[in-house]
Amino acid sequence: MDNRYSRQQLFSPIGEKGQQQLKEKHVLMIGVGALGSASAEALVRAGIGKFTIIDRDYVEWSNLQRQQLYTEQDAQEKVPKVIAAKNRLQRINSEVEINALILDADTDQLVGLLEDVDIMIDGTDNFDIRFMMNDLAQKYKIPWVYGSCVSSYGATYTIVPGKTPCLHCLLKVMPNTGMTCDTVGIISPAVQIVAAYQVAEVLKLLVGDEGARRKTFLTFDVWKNQHYEINVEKMRNDNCPSCGHNPTYPYLAYENQTKLDILCGRDAMQIRPPKPVHYNLEQLANQLRPYGDIQLNPYLLSYQTQDYRVVVFQDGRVVIHGIQDIQQAKSIYYRLLG
Ligand SMILES: [Zn+2]
Repeated sequence: MDNRYSRQQLFSPIGEKGQQQLKEKHVLMIGVGALGSASAEALVRAGIGKFTIIDRDYVEWSNLQRQQLYTEQDAQEKVPKVIAAKNRLQRINSEVEINALILDADTDQLVGLLEDVDIMIDGTDNFDIRFMMNDLAQKYKIPWVYGSCVSSYGATYTIVPGKTPCLHCLLKVMPNTGMTCDTVGIISPAVQIVAAYQVAEVLKLLVGDEGARRKTFLTFDVWKNQHYEINVEKMRNDNCPSCGHNPTYPYLAYENQTKLDILCGRDAMQIRPPKPVHYNLEQLANQLRPYGDIQLNPYLLSYQTQDYRVVVFQDGRVVIHGIQDIQQAKSIYYRLLG
């Protein structure tokens, strides 16, 4: 009988057996922006069993050009990305168990989520989080697929603990151009290509086709028609602090987790409280209403004044838009929430 996976099962490296394996697997994705949207849709259509998605942002108008899961309504209502993504993905394939978490990924929270995870996929735009994923992957022996893109350029690499060099070993070949989506923009074909490579690698590993895994660090520029594959197999470093003989997992140390960072894609600063707090957003909205425009949904509160906009998430995380000075951002934070 024809079924939704029939064409994928006809593809012999997957077959009926591979399809069954996919159904038994749990994929964890950090970041559901452009790359994450594209990979998430492909993985959910392919029929993975369980999918955990983590993201700290909400949908904005500047996302719609390339973040394929989101709609104008999501941007209008400032819906958190994981919530909008889950709604859309569940309509695409109701058989997949989707766990959507509005989280600014930190080590403690992630460790608690890793228990039955088979593979992680990178959808973030942030190297601090990637290096944290890299250390978690090594410590808990979970493969992960790195992906990044900016402008018309993209890069991807598959990391299997114990078999390949890790992201830390590859620091020398990592793109370090200082470019961000904020400064040079991004076009969606670059996103789609990276996501396609990432998803292919995830499928290969989930069906156990180790021989098909791509061993190179791949980069391309779709506008300039360039494509490079760097052979990195010999770059595994025995003294690497993440995957060497005596690993210290430096990115899992509390002090290395940034508390204040600049988000990609807009002029915004994020402040995380030193300890988790839970705000009563409705109460906070009532306090702030006399001083600015308030927009409230079940996940966040947006407070707009003439000069800046503050978005407060339930977990105490605050994003301040329109302010470039760190001290000024901190003083707004303490004035409103301290
Ligand atoms: Zn390493």
